[in-house]
Amino acid sequence: MKIFTVGLIIRQQNIGERDRLVTALTEQLGVVRCFVRGARDIKSPKCAATELLCYSKLTLHKSRDSYIIGDAKPLKIFGGLRGDLGRMYTAQYFCELAGTLCPKEQEAGVQLRLILNALYLISENKRPISLVKPCVELRLMCEAGYMPDLTMCRECGEYEKDTVYFLPKVGQLICRDCCERLALGEHKIALNRTSLTALRHCCYADGEKLFSFSVPEDDLRALNFCAEEYVRFITERNYKTLQFLKTII
Ligand SMILES: [Zn+2]
Repeated sequence: MKIFTVGLIIRQQNIGERDRLVTALTEQLGVVRCFVRGARDIKSPKCAATELLCYSKLTLHKSRDSYIIGDAKPLKIFGGLRGDLGRMYTAQYFCELAGTLCPKEQEAGVQLRLILNALYLISENKRPISLVKPCVELRLMCEAGYMPDLTMCRECGEYEKDTVYFLPKVGQLICRDCCERLALGEHKIALNRTSLTALRHCCYADGEKLFSFSVPEDDLRALNFCAEEYVRFITERNYKTLQFLKTII
């Protein structure tokens, strides 16, 4: 069976002298692992098209429980990521997240567009990494069915207060008054009005407005911490590429 789709290469492993095993985030089939024969022949268009972080047109052949990439043509190579360690690690972290959070054998066009937009913005330096990263983390979580409940304090129902806390283990909010009243010892992250608005924006904004906001550096830091901790607790794993990124930013 032949399948025509587009996809971003999110993992690449060389096999022997000539071949590759890649993982792609595709529009039609979500995350798929594919074998690519002759991918390391530099004269073949498959060579560039199946490299990590290349967005490509792919022709897949399905055989029992594996896929083979027959043809591949590069559509976009994010050249601006190369030569900048911060951008490169961020891009690789998005790939690692996609591999964990995106569906397998199911349509994943929304997730693919999200990551392509994010890669474009950081590769062209149109938005800072500290703004793009929490948007991707939180939106991938929402798409995977883990949308946090950020409407109000889970105890008293207040929509907004000067200080509320985000509870990353459960993805809920609690206001400072309720927190003190209950002497809540759970891991929590303090948010002021601005960082709470930003957190809500990342989860609830329309797709095309997602990356269009700006907040002061301190609030971005709180937002990044919320997103990282939420991903870490809910997916129950640490991300190697995020650890690399943290050593340089
Ligand atoms: Zn409350």
